[in-house]
Amino acid sequence: MPLKNKEVQPLARTPEEWAVAARALFSGARAFHGKQIFKWIHARGVLDPQQMSDLPKGLRDALEALELPKTMTIATERRAQDATRKLLVQMKDGATVETVLIPSVTGGPNGLPSPVGEDADAAAAVDEEELDQDRDRDLDLGQEKKRVTQCISTQVGCAMGCVFCASGVAGLKRQMTAEEIVAQVLIGKTRLEPGEDLRNVVLMGMGEPLHNYEETSRALRLLTHPDGVALSNRRVTVSTSGLIPEIARLGKDFQGQIGLAISLHAADDATRSSLMPINKKYPLAKLIDALRAYPLPKRRRITIEYTLVAGNNDTPSEAKKLVRLLRDLPVKVNLIPVNPIEARDYGPPSMEGVLAFQKVLCDAGYSCFIRRRRGDDVSAACGQLVLLGAKPKVRVRPSA
Ligand code: SF4
Repeated sequence: MPLKNKEVQPLARTPEEWAVAARALFSGARAFHGKQIFKWIHARGVLDPQQMSDLPKGLRDALEALELPKTMTIATERRAQDATRKLLVQMKDGATVETVLIPSVTGGPNGLPSPVGEDADAAAAVDEEELDQDRDRDLDLGQEKKRVTQCISTQVGCAMGCVFCASGVAGLKRQMTAEEIVAQVLIGKTRLEPGEDLRNVVLMGMGEPLHNYEETSRALRLLTHPDGVALSNRRVTVSTSGLIPEIARLGKDFQGQIGLAISLHAADDATRSSLMPINKKYPLAKLIDALRAYPLPKRRRITIEYTLVAGNNDTPSEAKKLVRLLRDLPVKVNLIPVNPIEARDYGPPSMEGVLAFQKVLCDAGYSCFIRRRRGDDVSAACGQLVLLGAKPKVRVRPSA
């Protein structure tokens, strides 16, 4: 079914929309050419019309005028020692955002168990049980592949102004279009290495995805389209700072199938408002009500992202408060020791402090993971590559 959108950019078109567009470009085009073009672009990642070998020559020539390969280009690519790849991608107007490819890892250094307990699989908000099922299935097929999670951006900058986040430093410059959101995945797939498989996409890069709902939701439909990239709904996770009306809308539009991650970062309104201005508009009690109402399928859980900022939200008593706040919600908690950004005078707690916080949650029966830093040697944490040298607008209390 065609999606509603006034001006649909080429890479954001559905097969049905391509059928109409192809007819307008070339009088000899037939309806089935729409699906063929869509498959070339989204399933095979081919943007050069001359390589779309089952299309008539006249249609291929007409498609050239759209300059599909120019939609997004890689400005820089940096590869960390742990094989995390950070791409700074450039759009037609020169604006840049970042997208990160994060291969899965198991255990700690030298194959030993991770010193911080079970890993949250980098930026993935994917359920550990599902990862195990994947692993089993791959082994059954005798083709264990390295699973890759891609983190993508949805806005150039961000209007939410969370004080610990590099993406919020510069404010919102512009929304990204659905085609730009999808193009990150198409370009990311070209950078997969032999034996790697793109398994999960998380909307946790630059921007608040639900503050760009129309373009984000179209991108979600395209990425999960069976004739395209064909990601499973449950392998796509939207991370939000807590825009309550849009959480409800996402739940309704996708029947709760799209994974949901909440940037919570505090368990009381005063602390959360000091870290995340959006909390003044949508305070915790209302946010928790919205999470209860999200139509989550059975056995699935919402991911709670909790950045630990030393001296702000990292004490065991804060952890107990978090336990009370989350009571009876189907959640798992990812703890993220804050990534110190240049020119910011705050930092993460000690590892002992992180483990003490985790223990409170585990003792209360929650699945609680400590996110392993990935790609530190290429500044692969949120916003860093784009914003190197940027001056922060706000400062938080210095670390205790
Ligand atoms: S944490 Fe998310 S919502 Fe907050 S400023 Fe950063 S990108 Fe925006």
